[in-house]
Amino acid sequence: MPVAPGSDAHPRPTRLTVLSGPSGVGKSTVVKELRRCHPEVWLSVSVTTRPPRPGETNGVEYHFADDAEFDRMIAEGELLEWAAFAGNRYGTPRRPVEERLRAGTPVLLEIDLQGARQVRASMPGSFHVFLAPPSWEELVHRLTGRGTEEPEVVQRRLDTARVELAAEKEFDAALTNTSVRDVCDELLALILAPQV
Ligand code: ADP
Ligand code: 5GP
Repeated sequence: MPVAPGSDAHPRPTRLTVLSGPSGVGKSTVVKELRRCHPEVWLSVSVTTRPPRPGETNGVEYHFADDAEFDRMIAEGELLEWAAFAGNRYGTPRRPVEERLRAGTPVLLEIDLQGARQVRASMPGSFHVFLAPPSWEELVHRLTGRGTEEPEVVQRRLDTARVELAAEKEFDAALTNTSVRDVCDELLALILAPQV
């Protein structure tokens, strides 16, 4: 008797979801809420050369690395993707992602547009979600209100944000971050959605 796709005998591939969107839109806030409410989704911890913000812990929000260590990881093929963003470098360690997917755990990456494009090319089955602000004014308000960057860095991030907002149509789905709780529920539904 034929076995229906998606049954235990034919498990669907585990979804790799990529969340992207302009700096300040609320990606980290949404991801933190998801981590709190839905520990069954595994969130990749990126490596970055940027210094920790107050309250950030090495190994939790990021693995903080110096330039030499980041260079070594690139050279040894340890990064699934990486990009330079607003003066620092960020990358996704490859091995933990591959291990979780093999084990059948849903995986979420929170990365910038350049990284999302690399993952789209190397992992064609990945599902890409764009997080949009309710308005440009609200994005500026959130990014400046966070108070974690110097005005010059905020300006650089806003310049990049204009480019990133224009790329929304490249994504498989877009969610507007008006309410963190609502976006978190909508994102979870996409992460756990049946594969086609
Ligand atoms: P990103 O990770 O995309 O750079 P953050 O998660 O750091 O953005 O959020 C930027 C700022 O916006 C933070 O001060 C955060 O508290 C605030 N913020 C996030 N989501 C919302 C929301 N839905 N409504 C109001 N403020 C928000
Ligand atoms: P932040 O400095 O605000 O934490 O992050 C800056 C940008 O880097 C955000 O757009 C975030 O999504 C992105 N980012 C974080 N980790 C990675 C990563 O591993 N790879 C890439 N390409 N971008 C990342």
